[in-house]
Amino acid sequence: MVKTTRIALIAHDQKKNDMVDFVKTHQAQLAAYEIVATGTTGSLIKDACPALNIERVKSGPLGGDQQIGAMIAENTVQMMIFFIDPLSPLPHDVDVKALTRLGSVYNLPMALNRATAEMLIKALA
Ligand code: PGA
Repeated sequence: MVKTTRIALIAHDQKKNDMVDFVKTHQAQLAAYEIVATGTTGSLIKDACPALNIERVKSGPLGGDQQIGAMIAENTVQMMIFFIDPLSPLPHDVDVKALTRLGSVYNLPMALNRATAEMLIKALA
């Protein structure tokens, strides 16, 4: 597997508790990596895990998804964990699609649900 240095974390509103729980569970391991997160997701993670160093971009609907997409295109993000909500309509659905599309274009290790995220984090260990 490609050496991972920077991991992007994003969670839609209905999945934010799950993301916080995931990060708390794997905090010790994640501390070894740079982390970038969309605005609200990053704030909640920071509140729950103050020791983690988290770079925050804009909130997803305000351009944060696109900022992370640009990082993927520039190869400054090497993994993405994105807990998407498949049951709610999202105003920024096109951004979500663009971001996951870039993840596929650049063959990025990309988890869109917790089960896959658990596998990716095991693969990092
Ligand atoms: P947020 O963005 O972390 O700022 O809520 C996530 C998203 O909805 O893309």
